[in-house]
Amino acid sequence: MRVKFWGVRGSIPSPCTTGQIEEKIIRALMGAQEVDLSDREAVEQYVRSLPLHQRGTYGGNTTCVEVRTARNELIIIDAGTGLRGLGMELMNTEFARGKGEAWMIFTHTHWDHVQGFPFFTPLYIPGNTFHLYGKHSDLEERLRCQQDLRFFPAMLDERDLPTSATPYMKANLEFIVPMPDPLELFAGRMTITTLDLDHPGVSYALRFEEDGKVFIFASDAEYKELTRAAYLQKYLDFYAGADVLVFDAQYTLQETLYEKFNWGHSSAMIGVELASEAGVKTLVLFHHEPAYDDNKIREVIYGNSLRYLRHVPTAHKCEVIVAYEGLELTI
Ligand SMILES: [Zn+2]
Ligand SMILES: [Zn+2]
Repeated sequence: MRVKFWGVRGSIPSPCTTGQIEEKIIRALMGAQEVDLSDREAVEQYVRSLPLHQRGTYGGNTTCVEVRTARNELIIIDAGTGLRGLGMELMNTEFARGKGEAWMIFTHTHWDHVQGFPFFTPLYIPGNTFHLYGKHSDLEERLRCQQDLRFFPAMLDERDLPTSATPYMKANLEFIVPMPDPLELFAGRMTITTLDLDHPGVSYALRFEEDGKVFIFASDAEYKELTRAAYLQKYLDFYAGADVLVFDAQYTLQETLYEKFNWGHSSAMIGVELASEAGVKTLVLFHHEPAYDDNKIREVIYGNSLRYLRHVPTAHKCEVIVAYEGLELTI
């Protein structure tokens, strides 16, 4: 299966500021003393040699991840603002002609996981079909509420339209709630299981298995009893042997234990420890704190997790990467 990240930010969209962009340019220019700045090719080569957090950004859009099966069926995890970009790309495909079909799974409905939904253009094209899954049985009502005209100018469907001219989503929407667990899709080629995560209003981790490969999406989770083995075991069992684990790394360890206790998020350090113990191959740090700029994510969140990895007492140590908009993984 293939996975592509369209939104990796937590809580609220957080575009780069002018000040942050200026700082990136200043740092890049200061490192370019050996580069012939009149030679475009040399400049391009230099810019592309810079690490992502200097030449670009991890991204400010909120949660949305595209999963493609071996046969290219499309599963979308969550509908944060990153979904808008995916929709624009899909409008170059059969979705523009009303012949698209996709399966969407909602881990929960906090704003940063649903706000992209009304901006997902393929939903407005008649003929497209979307199968919408969630463990929260009132998912449809929640999305309908978000598109009440007090909050958005286009409604979820033609039910309760105040006038015949009111815009609404014309695709076929099929809600399957609460989603079965396990959920077998595509004649059993893809199996998805879930785990309750400790998060206000409850979020769910998703474990995708296809052709013996395992991808786990486990954002929006707090781990409150780190010293109690019985508490941690259900996570270790669920994450066991994953090829890729997407993990809530919003806070520093200090924040998750003290300042932001009970806000429902975790830290990269906890991810490094759980992933290493569970035999996870690759840990993806995800749901970045909107108050943190690219340098802080690189130096503090990622940097500390690498330093901590050296002290994890397990024989197996996971690889750690940072999620960014556009990141693609083949699993
Ligand atoms: Zn979130
Ligand atoms: Zn949340």
